[in-house]
Amino acid sequence: MADQTPVSAASLGLGLDLAYAPAPEATDHVRIREHYGLLIGGKWVEPASGKGFKTVNPATEVVLAEVAEAGEEDVDLAVKAARAAYDKVWSKTSGAQRAKYLFRIARILQERAREFAVLETIDGGKPIKESRDVDLPLAAAHFFYYAGWADKLDYAFPGRQPQPLGVAAQVIPWNFPLLMAAWKLAPALAAGNTVVLKPAETTPLTALLLGEVLEQAELPPGVVNILTGAGATGAALVAHPDVDKVAFTGSTEVGKAIQRTLAGSGKRLTLELGGKAANIVFDDAPIDQAVEGIVNGIYFNQGHVCCAGSRLLVQESIAEPLIAKLKRRMATLRVGDPLDKNTDVGAINSRQQLARIEELVASGEAEGAELYQPPCDLPARGFWFRPTVFTGVAQSYRIAQEEIFGPVLSVLTFRTPAEAVEKANNTPYGLSAGVWTDKGSRILDLANRLRAGVIWANTFNRFDPTSPFGGYKESGFGREGGLHGLTAYVDLS
Ligand code: NAP
Ligand code: MG
Repeated sequence: MADQTPVSAASLGLGLDLAYAPAPEATDHVRIREHYGLLIGGKWVEPASGKGFKTVNPATEVVLAEVAEAGEEDVDLAVKAARAAYDKVWSKTSGAQRAKYLFRIARILQERAREFAVLETIDGGKPIKESRDVDLPLAAAHFFYYAGWADKLDYAFPGRQPQPLGVAAQVIPWNFPLLMAAWKLAPALAAGNTVVLKPAETTPLTALLLGEVLEQAELPPGVVNILTGAGATGAALVAHPDVDKVAFTGSTEVGKAIQRTLAGSGKRLTLELGGKAANIVFDDAPIDQAVEGIVNGIYFNQGHVCCAGSRLLVQESIAEPLIAKLKRRMATLRVGDPLDKNTDVGAINSRQQLARIEELVASGEAEGAELYQPPCDLPARGFWFRPTVFTGVAQSYRIAQEEIFGPVLSVLTFRTPAEAVEKANNTPYGLSAGVWTDKGSRILDLANRLRAGVIWANTFNRFDPTSPFGGYKESGFGREGGLHGLTAYVDLS
């Protein structure tokens, strides 16, 4: 087995210290208020209960701000504001006009990208290089893309006359806070709906800053309302009788609860839930490229990614060299201050999520899998977890079945393509998969047989607003992105 320690200057015989000097991103251009209210009907208001909660920086545990907690009364006011804006303004606004607002929002996001990226990293713990290079460009791209559809809906669905649905209730998670808001808002607004949005409890700040951007873009009051709060706020919102459409991204458990709430109501529903993706590497794959794809697949955003490649399926004949290379590569990952531009793996989003990761990793060890973590120093405060790989994993182990939503990879092996497909599909989820091989025909064959909504070939975790994204089975239903993403927000009957 190859050397598993980090490539140090000493091992290169240079006698130099090649450690990276700290390269922290500046934060002085970001203004965080002490207190945030709710955005209802174009005004920032206090919740009826007067209650609030604190959001912390998970890398330091420092409290960043106090945020209003919306209750049932506030939900009712926000839905009423969205209904009034729909009836009086937005349903009468032409597609070309709606497009102008969306283009404006996209451009302001680009102009204020650094501010948003830093705030996203401070509130959620993800490395600045990811919020800067992935979350922000993609969020702007979603608004640009759907702005382009707003005045072309009649061509999007030939022979049909798409009508907006009305008021959309949208509940989003903490792993890509701004990006998920963009995925939800852009198609809804392009299609002519108004919205009540509920960001996640641990990451409300970029959604609230987006609220300011909507004001800056002069979006008419009430077209988008933002309600911060915890699970109860989300539950009250999706259960409100006057919403026409519910869009939810989050855990399968909550998704099922929402489905039960909405059963028989006639309301439209899309669910983007969890995943346990297989990243399948064949013996003819370019091995170094595959290692990069595996690392990106599971350690990107600390593994807090619904489509993460959390199960590595590697062909038996190359398992040993591939795992050796993977471990060497893992040892070069820099874990720590998310604001440092050289950081690869940032902080775990919350104490609760850290506890869940620790519990599942302990179960992997108890069930008999072999754990490897590269040596790395972790900061004394904050929520951290080392990049982890488990070998010797059986399909029945919890770490092979359950979504860990952390930087933890489970490795399984296979001999034939048929066995790879069978193992890849042996999960209640069906969100994404990756295939690494030199053979184009094999990629096409597997794409047909893998039960996953998104399949990447010789790459992983690539996103584009023109491409639909969504799952099968317990990963949910409905698609976001592309033309498919619009259908969730229009009535075609
Ligand atoms: P979660 O607990 O389901 O929360 C998602 C959102 O729903 C949050 O805003 C949450 O509020 C809210 N919520 C909680 N209970 C609710 C209820 N009973 N009714 C309505 N809303 C409720 O999931 P999470 O822990 O934030 O996110 C992790 C999970 O999301 C993972 O399983 C991951 O796979 C999945 N995910 C899926 C996708 C996808 O596109 N398929 C994308 C990202 C994440 P609080 O934050 O206040 O609890
Ligand atoms: Mg936070």
